[in-house]
Amino acid sequence: MKTLWLLLLVASGLGLICGGCQTNPVTGEEQLILVSPEQEKQMGRDTAAQVEKELGQSVKDQQLQNYINSVGQGIARISHTPDEGFSYKAIDHQSVNAFALPGGYIYITTGLLKELNSEAQLAAVLAHETAHVTARHIAQQITRDILIDTGLGVVGSQAASSAMRVANIVRQLESMSFTREQEKQADEVGLDYLVKAGFTPYGMIETMEILQRASGSRTIEFFSTHPNPENRIGYLQERIYEKGYRGEGKTGQSEYATNVLSRLGK
Ligand SMILES: [Zn+2]
Repeated sequence: MKTLWLLLLVASGLGLICGGCQTNPVTGEEQLILVSPEQEKQMGRDTAAQVEKELGQSVKDQQLQNYINSVGQGIARISHTPDEGFSYKAIDHQSVNAFALPGGYIYITTGLLKELNSEAQLAAVLAHETAHVTARHIAQQITRDILIDTGLGVVGSQAASSAMRVANIVRQLESMSFTREQEKQADEVGLDYLVKAGFTPYGMIETMEILQRASGSRTIEFFSTHPNPENRIGYLQERIYEKGYRGEGKTGQSEYATNVLSRLGK
């Protein structure tokens, strides 16, 4: 994937000179980002098409998709970058997973949807992934990959040929791993989004508990690059206390049962 991105970057004619420093929408800090939002969008479009081709089909249930997207849009609207053009989709895959692609394309698997039991929990997962995008974690990863590739001299024909062989999208998504700090920030900013969108902050805690329980029985991809769930629950509880968040927001259990669980045959 990084070679594809590099290729896209080169193909866009902007090279490495044009990116420079950008202000992080979440932290307000200046940072080196070698990819523009427009380039990120293009990469996201290309990757999204391949994810749906190779990783899992988009779920063919428009009511379910509309529901997932509307919950996601409720988060996007109050995020740091509401004009990003976020989209939220369910894909048919048994792994327990959710991920964000460049440009605000966010996916959740049917495997994870079946583990959750409320709208607030769904919103918590989508808020975490949304925060990876708004806090520019993906742009930072792409920048890092570009710098590594450039350092190794991986440009030109070799990059072109491997870009053509984008066979294993799962592996590529895994290579897009975030740092622990980025994961923690996505949890914390995600928690803020969840509350701001009108949900109970405990949706985030419950999601961590569900993932923790589910991890005992089978592989949870969401975990492979994420901090230990016990630690996550600890710092999330601290933030709920520090921010003075109350547990009175929406839970949406029946909405979730109607729009997701019953439609997935659960
Ligand atoms: Zn994450």
